[in-house]
Amino acid sequence: MPSSLTSRIDGLSIQHPHRPLLLLWAIDQALRGRPRLQHWSVIREETDALLAEYGRSDGALYPFWVLHLNGLWEIEGAGTLPLTSGGRRPLVSALNAPDPLAGLPPEDHALLLADRQLADEITESLLERHLDPVPAGVAARIGWHGPGPADEVVVSPSSPEQTAARYRSLKRSAHASAERRGEDRSAPVGGERPKRTRSARRAVLLRSGGRCENPGCLGHPDELTDRGAPLLEVDHLNGLAATGEDVPELMIALCPNCHALKGRGRHRHRLLEVLAAAVAEKDAALERLGAGMQEAPHSGL
Ligand SMILES: [Zn+2]
Repeated sequence: MPSSLTSRIDGLSIQHPHRPLLLLWAIDQALRGRPRLQHWSVIREETDALLAEYGRSDGALYPFWVLHLNGLWEIEGAGTLPLTSGGRRPLVSALNAPDPLAGLPPEDHALLLADRQLADEITESLLERHLDPVPAGVAARIGWHGPGPADEVVVSPSSPEQTAARYRSLKRSAHASAERRGEDRSAPVGGERPKRTRSARRAVLLRSGGRCENPGCLGHPDELTDRGAPLLEVDHLNGLAATGEDVPELMIALCPNCHALKGRGRHRHRLLEVLAAAVAEKDAALERLGAGMQEAPHSGL
């Protein structure tokens, strides 16, 4: 069985944004209902400028070919194309003549269409990891309108195992993003407050199951907003919101009441120990359950 879509995407090197750019374009195509497979000439025409401008590459050829080697891209007749550069890739001319059809592998394409939340998560994760901050030109060309509202409804997958697998995947994205931001810290940021990592926030909300994570919550742990989203606030356990690492195992989802108790309550030090223990326990349980799972079912497609 091939590894899951998210783990193949997580495996992409963050050195070069051209691969994520082509993937983002392809995911957007899928969500717009365009055909899964399109001709090289069409893909080239649509992505060449995007890749040359933002991908720091010579255009469409390189990612078109290497994504195929990453198992994230299907090229019809790939095995029959003559290769150069020591057998590493075809020349543009070798693609122009057969003009092969190419696109996302069928099972990945079906998965993205069946699970819009996963598609959004992957888009955000690719942008967070590879193109942060997102250039306006990229956002426009891949049809990305920025992160959703703060009280977004995070839908749990259908089984606990899939929830766990999704949690692990989001957590990996959050860690990769935190690492990248750590490396970027040498650059002056002009005193800007660090942005929250959306994958970390989503992971925490997924882990919470829509309930305040304080095991002793006496408030309204299941209350919803008008949009049907849980009335939860995601915060850092250590209280270092401005400098703390955005990773889900150091963060917690709390109802407004428990959030206030954690920040200002007289017994906040004791409460913090309870909260940290609860988070550690849930995090470990999800890690165990999610190990080796695929992130979502393919059934019915
Ligand atoms: Zn609470």
